Amino acid sequence: MSVVMKFGGSSVADAECMRQVATLVERALPEAPVVVLSAMGKTTDALFRAARAALEGRLDVAREEAKAVAARHHEAARGLFDGQPPEELERGLAQRFDELDRIFQGLALLGELSPRSMDAIAARGELLSTTLFAAYFRARSPHSQWFDAREVVRTDSAHGSAQPRVELVRALVRGKLAPLLRAGRAIVTQGYIGADESGATTTLGRGGSDWSASLLGAALGAREVQIWTDVEGVYTADPRLAARAEPIAELSFAEAAELAAFGAKVLHPATIQPAVEADIPVTVRHTLRPAGRFTTIRGQSSGARAVTAIAMRGPVHVLTVTSSRMLAQAGFLARLFEVFRERGVSVDLVATAEVSVSLTVEADAPLDDLVAAISPFARCDVSRDRAIVAVVGERLRNTPGVSARALDALASFHVEMLSMGANEINLSVVLERSAAPAALAALHARFFERAS
Ligand code: ASP
Ligand code: MG
Repeated sequence: MSVVMKFGGSSVADAECMRQVATLVERALPEAPVVVLSAMGKTTDALFRAARAALEGRLDVAREEAKAVAARHHEAARGLFDGQPPEELERGLAQRFDELDRIFQGLALLGELSPRSMDAIAARGELLSTTLFAAYFRARSPHSQWFDAREVVRTDSAHGSAQPRVELVRALVRGKLAPLLRAGRAIVTQGYIGADESGATTTLGRGGSDWSASLLGAALGAREVQIWTDVEGVYTADPRLAARAEPIAELSFAEAAELAAFGAKVLHPATIQPAVEADIPVTVRHTLRPAGRFTTIRGQSSGARAVTAIAMRGPVHVLTVTSSRMLAQAGFLARLFEVFRERGVSVDLVATAEVSVSLTVEADAPLDDLVAAISPFARCDVSRDRAIVAVVGERLRNTPGVSARALDALASFHVEMLSMGANEINLSVVLERSAAPAALAALHARFFERAS
């Protein structure tokens, strides 16, 4: 059994952060940790900018960007080794930057940037951060070692958003990575990157390191996948909207997915799916507050609360379609939804009444076009600039009284639409966007801030 510890860009942003990471990894050494690192904060963005500049023939701009990235790595190296990084490390870093410079020269010359070369460039961020961290960590734990994720993260060749070949990854991990695991030693590897069949470097898409961690964790049958970041987990609401929001202790995969659909930034549930499917808990933890609270995500909900979180999303528009003659007739809704399908517009919430149906669409939906298409067979009123506020929880459906409490908390608000999600894990209301933050706060107060 091992534990996978993934640290995001902000957790490895400089020497001080990396020392903290090393301290956490050191504590986990008895568990044979696999450490998955992102690029140092902002590096990937800079590499993308540099590549684009080189492509446009602005080699000087590309070099400036690369220089800044190099400076950050060399500075971190000095910080980690008290001003005197091992020569080998300095040379290694310098070599990677020389290679990068040559790639940029080529780009400027050819005026062509294939997704394949972009991946070769983007992957450098993770190769650099892990080279640096592994060198430092070995000074504290000599048996620990750097490992090239491309040896085991086999993907298809869709550069920029490659799909892992899960079965192959599992076999490769078991054959090449698992035998290296040993109590007292950490393996340091890259998130985000992989290789296709021909050996070409690929990337899993922006933010892909969580996915890497969860893939490796699943393949290893790890005890836990830890996502170390700069928040204490997933919160009961956006703390900017509800000051007393707190980290959720236990979250189910479905709840995490629901919150992500509402724009929770902490993690994308698809990326943790491999671990969750393998029944491995995924925790979200704060790198600088390791003793603090954190969230555990599992396949099945094990929390006791009916309501897990309050979330908000907007702006959205509401279309209210009224037809006294037709609504009850067979085929009306099919005809209505056909209008949306034809235009590739997805409908989120739907609420039907005897003679009308209300539905929400995203802010960028082609409203005029939709109205024009619906008008020949029904009246269509549009309310713009609305927001959806949702009460999320997998136990909602089994808990009587939640809707009553929610509506009671919203008594002073003008709720325009109410909908219980078909998956029964969210109860959503639609209001004017300007009222939504206060509605969220009121719901949060009702469900999470009861005076004791
Ligand atoms: N470094 C990559 C990015 O910034 C991957 C990651 O951090 O997860 O998108
Ligand atoms: Mg991330």
